[in-house]
Amino acid sequence: MNAWHDRFHQSMMGSMATPLGMLDRGEGCWVWDMDGMSYLDFLAGIAVNSLGHAHPVFVAAVSAQAARLAHVSNYFATEPQVALAERLKRITGAGERGRVYFGNSGAEANEAAFKLARLHSSVHSTPPRTRIITLVDSFHGRTMGGLALSGKPAMREDFQPVPGGVEHIAPTLEALEQAMDGTVAALFVEPILGEAGVRPLPDGFLERARELTTQYGALLIIDEIQTGAGRTGRWFGFQHAGIVPDAVTLAKGIGGGFPIGALVTYGDASELFGPGQHGSTFGGNPLATATSNAVLEEIESAGLVANAAVRGQELRAAVMGIGSPLVTGVRGAGLLLGIALSEPVASEVVAAALREGLIINAPNPQSIRLAPPLIIGDTEIAEFTARFTRALESVRPATAKETP
Ligand SMILES: *Cc1c(COP(=O)(O)O)cnc(C)c1O
Repeated sequence: MNAWHDRFHQSMMGSMATPLGMLDRGEGCWVWDMDGMSYLDFLAGIAVNSLGHAHPVFVAAVSAQAARLAHVSNYFATEPQVALAERLKRITGAGERGRVYFGNSGAEANEAAFKLARLHSSVHSTPPRTRIITLVDSFHGRTMGGLALSGKPAMREDFQPVPGGVEHIAPTLEALEQAMDGTVAALFVEPILGEAGVRPLPDGFLERARELTTQYGALLIIDEIQTGAGRTGRWFGFQHAGIVPDAVTLAKGIGGGFPIGALVTYGDASELFGPGQHGSTFGGNPLATATSNAVLEEIESAGLVANAAVRGQELRAAVMGIGSPLVTGVRGAGLLLGIALSEPVASEVVAAALREGLIINAPNPQSIRLAPPLIIGDTEIAEFTARFTRALESVRPATAKETP
């Protein structure tokens, strides 16, 4: 085995699967491993590297802010922090009454939202409502609160008890109607369930979720950690449904590779947290917020939200155009796509793609996830198609289909 492999296992905790390789550097949509082999990166660190790797705007923002002021504690404000909060209010449509809390990851954003839901209930209901509704197969992070919210029982199994009161319902309108009443504090949903294989919500789900949460005085909290920052062809996934939520959680793509998370609240929900009720040492520091601000500015000025919409359509057509019997459909929106396979061979396809110099992943045995940088163009789509075609072919050769 490679030397890095042994060193990894002798030093890194075994909480994650063995890495597929050791990467050394990146540029644009490409990364290189320690042996100098190049890979087309169609995963972007799981929807994180919005601008690809080593983008000049990202590099300049990190460098300039690191050389100026990296961290100050929450006893002081900084210009990048306030500027990013203002930008997030604008692009989420949170408007005048919107407010922003900064953490360092998606899980922390959802922890803040979980506390917001409890606080909402403590303030507005006597006795406080304890029920929080999320979806079966949803993913909201790995902290204790994240495990409680996530609709994947296997993830929680060995870590009980997790915070209580969370119920997981099927992502259907019927289940939603049945679950909602005046005892619910909040409904948490992802507009597209990324870790469940890139599965969009049924048509009308978010609209009905908004009606019912309003009717019963519950918060509607949208987890935009994977779907945000322009990835779905709008700034945020919920915007396709034309609703206004009570809160959204952000991370991944807003930092373009720099760790940052945020909770954005709308309207009355902005007035819930008071001084001392939540915080984080690193959260909202000038280095993270200056970088995120530069990444979002580049997404905006380079028209990358529209690019995600257009390239997403092209990528979808390219995948279907391969005509592989293994591919039965493409789900998702913009540049968050799930390829449905006819057989549970997703990990074989991922391994074959890696041998072809293509990085993709398998959120479950019958789905492939594509989440390339938002900067992709004709060249990357053509390269992807050639490499993915060879990968599919090596897993199930076309001729094998004719053999009885
Ligand atoms: C990745 C992800 C999270 C967790 O984010 P971390 O930064 O890994 O803590 C939560 N929700 C969704 C939808 C995600 O995709």
